[in-house]
Amino acid sequence: MRWRVGSGEKISIVGQPWLMDSHNPFITSNSKVLRKNKVCSLMVSDHRGWDEDILRDLFNEIDHMEHDTVYWSKESSGNYSVRSAYRMLRAQMNPWRQEDNASLWRKIWKIKAPPKILNFVWRSLTDCLPTLVILQRKNVYVESVCPVCSREEESIAHILVTCPLAKLCWQVFVHGYLSSRD
Ligand SMILES: [Zn+2]
Repeated sequence: MRWRVGSGEKISIVGQPWLMDSHNPFITSNSKVLRKNKVCSLMVSDHRGWDEDILRDLFNEIDHMEHDTVYWSKESSGNYSVRSAYRMLRAQMNPWRQEDNASLWRKIWKIKAPPKILNFVWRSLTDCLPTLVILQRKNVYVESVCPVCSREEESIAHILVTCPLAKLCWQVFVHGYLSSRD
């Protein structure tokens, strides 16, 4: 949940999620003055706009609305939906999306393989392959169960790693690789 700023009278400046930034909606500045005041104190007296002098050093981007309302930031409508919450959790669970994996990405780009293979690796690690799960997430009307094994949903991890067919491929590959080194 986020605060959408209207008059700003109900929202504390510090410790409440009211910035537009999707990663960190909390302000990072934490001076005493800010801590005990509401967002309305950052506005000019008629509540119709921000006090630019106060804000200039604090914020980059600010939204302004009529009333203080709570909204769900993961849907453009602002309404909570299970689907968008699921999508958000899935994205959080995918460690490859995090920027601090820069060194791992560097290793991947150093792999001596044709560009189209590296592109495939990159797409699979960033959730950018049209698996049934992802198609469904993009509102394409399909069943998400794996058409190969019918045991799990066809996610990227499933079709490339945990599906029995994928496991078989990996076994054949590893076996071939090991015997080529003998
Ligand atoms: Zn499968």
